[in-house]
Amino acid sequence: MGFIKDNLYRISNKNLVGLFKKQSVYPYYHIIRDDKAAHIENLYQYKNIAQFKNDLEVLSKNFSPLSLGDLTANKNNGFLISFDDGLEEIYSVVFPILKEKNLKAIFFVNPVFVDNNEGLYKHYISVIINHLKDQNFRKESLDTISSIFNFSYISNDDFTAKFKNIRFSDRNKITDVLSYLNIDIHHYLKTQKPYISKEQIQEMIDQGFYFGGHTMSHPPLEQLSFEEQKKEIIDSIDWVKNTFSIDYSLFAFPFSDKKISKRLLTELLEYDKDILLFGNSGLKKDFDNRIIQRFSIEHPKKDIKKIIVTENLFKYYNKVIGKYKISRK
Ligand SMILES: [Zn+2]
Repeated sequence: MGFIKDNLYRISNKNLVGLFKKQSVYPYYHIIRDDKAAHIENLYQYKNIAQFKNDLEVLSKNFSPLSLGDLTANKNNGFLISFDDGLEEIYSVVFPILKEKNLKAIFFVNPVFVDNNEGLYKHYISVIINHLKDQNFRKESLDTISSIFNFSYISNDDFTAKFKNIRFSDRNKITDVLSYLNIDIHHYLKTQKPYISKEQIQEMIDQGFYFGGHTMSHPPLEQLSFEEQKKEIIDSIDWVKNTFSIDYSLFAFPFSDKKISKRLLTELLEYDKDILLFGNSGLKKDFDNRIIQRFSIEHPKKDIKKIIVTENLFKYYNKVIGKYKISRK
């Protein structure tokens, strides 16, 4: 959250959640889990099962569930949740809860990680940071790793921040770090199974849940050329459609949609006239109603009602300052 939003969150009254009846909401998460996960815990915080169930109760009480077909119909007061990154918990934790409550959701997956043969480089970084914590941030390890990535650091926190922010093009060097620290990441993938499998996706699709692409390998798109960006996106949408014989095209931008060019969005909208593209810019209007903007309700210490009120107040603030409509270059 930014400065303005943080302040709006502080002053927002959760009892006003029922006030914003016209606005539909598209909250998203990555993972729901009661305990720690080494591949996630150094990247962001997440909700436990009880908190997730409470979110669903609040959403169901104040909004009506939307299906895919409702999304471009400008329906008032609806909600549809989604999950990014294809983590295993969407099958083992989220799927049974949603079935029980008769709710649907969209799941955006990275085909390269499905079936656990390979993982997201940021997840590897989290596993490595856990290992470094166990070593009490031994200076020799930090020095070796920072020299592999060619950065300097002044403290353990500074090291961690810089290590988490390495460039996508440097991700192959993580293999060197893993072998230097004797971490067997393939053993981790095979035993922990952080990602969903094709069989699990098929089972969820058979029960009416929606799946879409999230790029093949979750790159920060702004670090790729236009053609590379488009290929990462279209290949992931096609993979989901072809592997599971589904006829709709769904896609969510990894990290953020903020720097995505108008040209790329236009070409994606031309790829399939019924495509739905998902960003995470909050309650904002994009240049085409097939671009749906979401907001995160993942933070376990933030109250969902207060987040919804804040997002609505921020929407009015953006309208006043002329930033409600997203301008794309
Ligand atoms: Zn993602």
